[in-house]
Amino acid sequence: MHVKPIKMRWLTGGVNYSYLLTTQDRSKSWLIDSAEVAEVLPHLSNSEMDSIEAIVNTHHHYDHAGGNIAMLAALKKQIGRTVKVIAGSGNSPAASDIPKHLQRYSLGDLEITCIRTPCHTQDSVCYHVKDSDTNEQALFTGDTLFTAGCGRFFEGTAEEMDTALNDRIPKGVQEPNWNITRVFPGHEYTKSNVKFVRKAVYPNLGDNKSFDELEKFCEGHEVTTGHFTLTDEMQFNPFMKLNDPLVRKAVSDHKNAFTHAQVMNQLRKMKNAA
Ligand SMILES: [Zn+2]
Repeated sequence: MHVKPIKMRWLTGGVNYSYLLTTQDRSKSWLIDSAEVAEVLPHLSNSEMDSIEAIVNTHHHYDHAGGNIAMLAALKKQIGRTVKVIAGSGNSPAASDIPKHLQRYSLGDLEITCIRTPCHTQDSVCYHVKDSDTNEQALFTGDTLFTAGCGRFFEGTAEEMDTALNDRIPKGVQEPNWNITRVFPGHEYTKSNVKFVRKAVYPNLGDNKSFDELEKFCEGHEVTTGHFTLTDEMQFNPFMKLNDPLVRKAVSDHKNAFTHAQVMNQLRKMKNAA
């Protein structure tokens, strides 16, 4: 498979990504979260536009789904046909396909599983992609899972985010795939997440070696999307390590008495205030 990250809203602070997901033979594509059509179109060749089978949204927020109608029109003009719009709910403009939890799609050799992860929005969906030809795997996580972080709980609870990150995603991807599944979030928030985690959770080098490596990587790379796997996240992302004694310490759970949801809630509150 080929994944082309396309930067959107970097000059105005949104640091969003749209992604073109394409089969190994380049015959078919999904265009994910193409919210800023004027920023996305210059990055698509005619043959890439020809290959697009669907516009796909990770959730309904305007900086992810707000370009659906304009992109449909641009594609219609260029390739002479209308494509599907796959999204978690009718709150995404022009949504034509609303997948159920664990519903699958085929895109050429790619098998894609929709993992519904309500919390940031109730219609949040993560898309897990398996390439049966090359054995590559990818997970598009929108604003649910960020590298070393997670999305705000705009429409859901800490319990729902715990379920999303620590039950639905791991189970949906399935354990043997965790360490080959590359994570592609909706925003490039890694640097600020790392800053927060270093301050609030792992203050010392050596507290979490995977996290130390992530921090070092961030110093030399502006773009981190696609560089880390789900296993990496499970090793350095505190929102996926709710039983880690240092995470419990960070949220002042000195008696190890908090539920997972309480740890999640407190950690997110601390991040919101950071
Ligand atoms: Zn969002």
